[in-house]
Amino acid sequence: MLIVKKFGGTSVANKERIFNVARRCIEEYQRGNDVVIVLSAMGKSTDELIEMARDINPSPSKREMDMLVTTGEQVSVSLMAMAMDFMRIPAVSLNAFQVAMHTTHRYGNAKLKRIDTDRIRNELEQRKIVIITGFQGVDKFDNVTTLGRGGSDTTAVALAAALHADACEIFTDVDGVYTADPRYVKNARKLDCITYDEMLELATLGAGVLHNRSVEMAKKYGVQLVVRSSLNNNEGTVVKEGANMEKMLVSGVAVDKNAARIAVIGLKDEPGIAFHLFNALASKKINIDIILQSVGRDGTKDISFTVEEDEADEAIAVLQKNFPRSEYKAINMDKKVAKLSIVGAGMQTHSGVAATMFEALYDAGVNIRMISTSEIRVTVLIDEDNADKALRSVHDKFSLGD
Ligand code: ADP
Ligand code: ASP
Ligand code: MG
Repeated sequence: MLIVKKFGGTSVANKERIFNVARRCIEEYQRGNDVVIVLSAMGKSTDELIEMARDINPSPSKREMDMLVTTGEQVSVSLMAMAMDFMRIPAVSLNAFQVAMHTTHRYGNAKLKRIDTDRIRNELEQRKIVIITGFQGVDKFDNVTTLGRGGSDTTAVALAAALHADACEIFTDVDGVYTADPRYVKNARKLDCITYDEMLELATLGAGVLHNRSVEMAKKYGVQLVVRSSLNNNEGTVVKEGANMEKMLVSGVAVDKNAARIAVIGLKDEPGIAFHLFNALASKKINIDIILQSVGRDGTKDISFTVEEDEADEAIAVLQKNFPRSEYKAINMDKKVAKLSIVGAGMQTHSGVAATMFEALYDAGVNIRMISTSEIRVTVLIDEDNADKALRSVHDKFSLGD
């Protein structure tokens, strides 16, 4: 069997943890399997590198940022190979350039296009454990790129797909995917399994346990994932295709505090306004999420929408530049908002789920600013200060806890 195992930052944070991971992988290798390991940077080292950069230059170039932060992964893979060598097990570390993991050119958020597997296969044939840097890529001009924060999960899934691996395991600091972030909801319950679609929604809506693009890719290539702890042998959560396996109405609740709401007030109520507004934002690749348009009154209307908080200032600047001041009365922005979402495939066949969520928010005295829904999700925009109590109230209302 060929097995891809990915370990996140906390799992390789220090010497003991590195040897712990080495031992686990060696056990797999000694069972006769081919083992490919994907590692993140140690502990919080990516954050520390970003801090160092900002200290030198508050707005560093994206190219140099990628050049810098990819060093974190190179530290962990080389140390892991040394640990295995110390344990007399043949291992080799490879970075994205050595493997040849081709990505698009977009620094900081590149997309994987193609992975050459020859070098990896070659090393595996020599019975080596192959240890690969997560998060990194190389564009067609040989520049180093990164896949976005948390992107090592995507490296692992892409490798599993390219190598036709028999299993892809994502090891982290929790036992699996929970009904809510266990760091904030103490009675959150671990799920035995979850569908790709549910996991994709949760990951996109703030459940940082998996990089959302890794789930997208797993679904596309049919890679079955297991999310489990690197610190124990508990069974994790299986992410796979299928019906709502646990027959739950709601599988999980997620919070995303990286949101901002922008409102354009007093726009002319005539055709083409929304097109011009969102086209200007799209041309600068600013992602828009929830959109709300008010009912027209006296020939004017308001349009409000959410963007990622770190793109909010740019969004305002784009609007001010591209919209004549006479076209609207005011633009305002609120960064102290959060998105709270419930996700569950069971919603497709049951009514009243949204109402139950709104009741939970009412119980907690939380006002809803915006609402958006899909077949398997309800998202509300609320004040960021209310996020934690709203999360717990909604989680309890659907009896998701232990
Ligand atoms: P790694 O470094 O291993 O990639 P991450 O910090 O990226 O780890 O992801 C694991 C963290 O995700 C957990 O510590 C947990 O706080 C957080 N998390 C958020 N939502 C969930 C959820 N629904 N289930 C499990 N963990 C979650
Ligand atoms: N080290 C990178 C980050 O901190 C990638 C990852 O951990 O997946 O975002
Ligand atoms: Mg992660």
